[in-house]
Amino acid sequence: MSNTHVLATLRAGSFVLILALTAGCAQPPVAGTTGVQRMYVFDCGEAQIPDVSPWSPGVNVGKPAVFSNNCYLIAHGNDLMLWDSGYSDLIAVVPGGMVGPRSTAVVQKTLAAQMAELNIKPEQVTRIAFSHTHMDHVGNANMFASATLYIQQAEYDAAFGTDPAKFGFVATNYDKLRASPSVKLSGDYDIFGDGSVLILSTPGHTPGHQSLLVRLPNTGVVVLTGDAAHFKENFDNRRVPTFNFNKEQTVQSMEKLARVAAAEHAQLWFNHDRAQSSGIPHSPQFLD
Ligand SMILES: [Zn+2]
Repeated sequence: MSNTHVLATLRAGSFVLILALTAGCAQPPVAGTTGVQRMYVFDCGEAQIPDVSPWSPGVNVGKPAVFSNNCYLIAHGNDLMLWDSGYSDLIAVVPGGMVGPRSTAVVQKTLAAQMAELNIKPEQVTRIAFSHTHMDHVGNANMFASATLYIQQAEYDAAFGTDPAKFGFVATNYDKLRASPSVKLSGDYDIFGDGSVLILSTPGHTPGHQSLLVRLPNTGVVVLTGDAAHFKENFDNRRVPTFNFNKEQTVQSMEKLARVAAAEHAQLWFNHDRAQSSGIPHSPQFLD
């Protein structure tokens, strides 16, 4: 199916939904309550970690862990928005994965291949945002240089300033985005202006870390936490990794996400929580 067909199907799907709502309910649908048709979740690699305690200081010392790592493609009208781009597809050909200081990155199936399965080319993605600029989230950023970038000003300054390495950023992962059309943010932001996809400012892990609220027509509200917390146990206990940019901000951001989840009856999806991730349908399945 070509992307045109995907979009046509999506439009047809929303038309059917509107018909169903109109036919089956006394109340007409409220215009603009949601504009998201569906969301695909891609497997964007995993991190094999010999000692997980840097993520949870004093807890699980010396214990190994595996982190999931997802990317998310949101279809909204004629737009395709990518949230996070995972580890670089180039890691897929490295035998045994890419060894880093705290973890080994492994990519089983590239993001490009998973998008190709849906007949979507990277240049068809119109909007892109990252939870933050670490390599497990911006690994494939350069594939999407034609999309409009939504980034917090504080993150932009760190990523495109004079010393990105100071923040743990590897500029070659995302340097093509310097010339991308960009919207620089200082706080929360409604991407489509209809309340369906909201960037939530959640600094602390990095200077301009952000999370994403997605209002799906049937699934309900999902908040993609990014690395505001790496996994549920850390969130529940408000644990802050040793290497975060700002501990106080991190705790405040977790409190903010808890408030949003309560107010919106939202599910919090922790990107690196492998147990949770294994229960989430992955592409070519989708959520609507
Ligand atoms: Zn991460």
